Amino acid sequence: MKKYDYTDILGWSHSRYRTFDECRRKYYYHYYGKNFQPQISEQVVQLKRLVSRPLLNGSIVHDLIEKALNHLKFNFEFVEADFLEFAEKFIETACNNAASFEKYYENAELDIVSIETSVFEALGNFLKSSRFELLLGSTPETRALWVIEPPGFGETRFQGKKVYFKVDFLVVEDGQYLVFDWKTGKKDPIQHAEQIKGYALWVMDHYEAAVGSVNMNISYVTGGYEEISVDVNPFDLSQLAGKIESQTNYMYDMCSDIQGNIPKPIDEFPLIANPNRCKYCNFKLLCDRV
Ligand code: SF4
Repeated sequence: MKKYDYTDILGWSHSRYRTFDECRRKYYYHYYGKNFQPQISEQVVQLKRLVSRPLLNGSIVHDLIEKALNHLKFNFEFVEADFLEFAEKFIETACNNAASFEKYYENAELDIVSIETSVFEALGNFLKSSRFELLLGSTPETRALWVIEPPGFGETRFQGKKVYFKVDFLVVEDGQYLVFDWKTGKKDPIQHAEQIKGYALWVMDHYEAAVGSVNMNISYVTGGYEEISVDVNPFDLSQLAGKIESQTNYMYDMCSDIQGNIPKPIDEFPLIANPNRCKYCNFKLLCDRV
């Protein structure tokens, strides 16, 4: 995989622009609060770390699928009972170490048992899926090429712009690239297909792959296991290029120094008008919207 030298300039990602679009003040706190508001930088870091129950659930499922695949990459034997025993301890540790949003704002204890139940349900769906069976049957040569949660943030370049696409899992076989994105939340194939198409750019950049050789798979692991295959064609990529270009420019507009990624003053990042939309925001304490 390619490595890019560090530069200060901001890079587009789906989640960065979504935060920008949701609330400018939230965007400011999330991406600039620590470095540009020294009087509250520790608090910003603490609030940024808060994780809601659904997010924690999703992140544990992702971590455990990663552990299962990494085990499978180097070992032919996969003993499900041993893995589930490991998973139980892993869930407990993850919950105990989590900075719970609900605990912080509602003083509600994290219900580890209910998290364990939903994580085990998702893991069970994955381990019993035909996909996992196919992976179990992979040759050592194919397994050696698996890319599982690559380190870093998935930095890549697209038409001269810095962009980020973090793939969950990539299988390379017979010159074809198959990207998987595990999903634990509500099914939304239209929105998720839009989001996953960008992963083709990461593969094309890092593997110098042709557009037709990349296929994406949205893999829902809750409520059963379901895969939705997403193809990408040159028209999709030109649409994506336009979107990334315009959304990056909107975010550049909020910088006083684009190359240095220095934001304009905080007052130019207003609070969202409707306070009802602040309910699940990590930074609501700073906005007095608790
Ligand atoms: S609490 Fe509301 S206004 Fe404040 S950052 Fe969050 S979403 Fe924006």
